[in-house]
Amino acid sequence: MAIVKITEILTGNCTDQKVTVRGWVYRKREGKELIFIVIRDSTGIIQSTIKKANPNWTEAQKLTIESSIELEGTVKEDKRAPGGFEIGTESINIIGLAEVFPISKDKSEEFIRDMRHLWLRSRKMNLIMKVRAEILEASREYFKKQNYTEVSPPMFISAAVEGGSTLFGLKYFDQDLYLTQSSQLYLEILIYSLQNVYCIAPSFRAEKSRTIRHLTEYWHIEAEWPFANMNDLINFEEGLMTHVCQTIAQKCVTEFKELGADIEKLKAVKPPFPRITYKEAIDWLKQKNPSLTLGSDLGYEDEKVLAEKFNKPFFVYDYPTAIKAFYCKTYTDHPEIAMSADMMVPRIGEISTGGAREDNKELLIQRMKEQDLKPEDYEWYLDLRRYGSVPHVGFGMGLERLLIWMLDLDNIIDAIPFPRTTRRFYP
Ligand code: ATP
Ligand code: MG
Repeated sequence: MAIVKITEILTGNCTDQKVTVRGWVYRKREGKELIFIVIRDSTGIIQSTIKKANPNWTEAQKLTIESSIELEGTVKEDKRAPGGFEIGTESINIIGLAEVFPISKDKSEEFIRDMRHLWLRSRKMNLIMKVRAEILEASREYFKKQNYTEVSPPMFISAAVEGGSTLFGLKYFDQDLYLTQSSQLYLEILIYSLQNVYCIAPSFRAEKSRTIRHLTEYWHIEAEWPFANMNDLINFEEGLMTHVCQTIAQKCVTEFKELGADIEKLKAVKPPFPRITYKEAIDWLKQKNPSLTLGSDLGYEDEKVLAEKFNKPFFVYDYPTAIKAFYCKTYTDHPEIAMSADMMVPRIGEISTGGAREDNKELLIQRMKEQDLKPEDYEWYLDLRRYGSVPHVGFGMGLERLLIWMLDLDNIIDAIPFPRTTRRFYP
């Protein structure tokens, strides 16, 4: 007999047919003459009933929440059942009888978070992880369409990408190494071979502050390409964001509905996005927060206020050189301004940072010195400017930030299966 996925039944394809489903007991309610068993598999949940006269009645009585089972029966359309279909059970095979499941409705959020390994079975996490997977797929699809090659940079690195304050150090045999904070510099190496490259890989940041948008290990969608300028960069990011939002809006209707997330905001994502300069942003924000001055970095609160003004994704560009990393290219006639752009979204603020990279060796060395970095630590990076240097741009977008915006999630820890924060690293 055909083993079917629950979603297949719910689409009405198996009505009046005999099926076998494999999954876990989601809920159970026992009456005198009838036991209701709700089963879940990776695709959905469905109700089944078993009558007292059935020889498997005692097996059904034994069933506990989260027991794994194989259930055989006939599908009936039933308006009263959740999802509109029900299985009339003929036989039940208990595969793994569960002990008393520790997660129940009355448990606190904190308790549930500590039970991550079991909570991942919840409907909520199941749906979030599906949307996450769809974002990854849609991103790859866009990169491929635009002729970008996916590459695999290292996670162990010997020199810090930017400042050291959020860097994780580690012992690597008898050497001191770090975990990567961004793959950017490695992508920069690869553009000389493959030109348009991207990667989707973890980045590690020793972020001590507890916010709704910081993890210590997150997934970073990064790209880098040569013979390009700031306009190319912003256009590409707009294209990627539009493609991902439109694809998700099309493919994840059920997930959004069940999670209670607003899918309309994704449908509304279309280029061109509003673009404002850093200076314009500060001028506008000063009306709300007079302590803000030209030159200060935008914090989470400022970004949120700014995002309310637009109520959709937008760009802030041309940041002060002084608050940017050493590799940011500056304007020849305005060296105090860096060619850098952040994409922001409502409620979350920044979700990506991109920019043009300094391609002049002398200027790069000067910028390193200004930031107390030793050029000799970056010899290989300087080689890229020695041998066929080229104007190039790139960006990095946080996958989990994108996901919490899309799904209206309260906290970034729900956007990744195994969140890592200052306090969380189990299991
Ligand atoms: P923030 O100022 O919010 O800490 P950042 O400017 O330091 O971020 P970037 O170095 O620009 O971060 O990293 C590129 C992108 O990676 C960010 O726009 C964001 O989407 C994501 N990101 C950065 N740090 C984290 C983190 N700790 N957890 C999750 N995502 C992050
Ligand atoms: Mg940034």
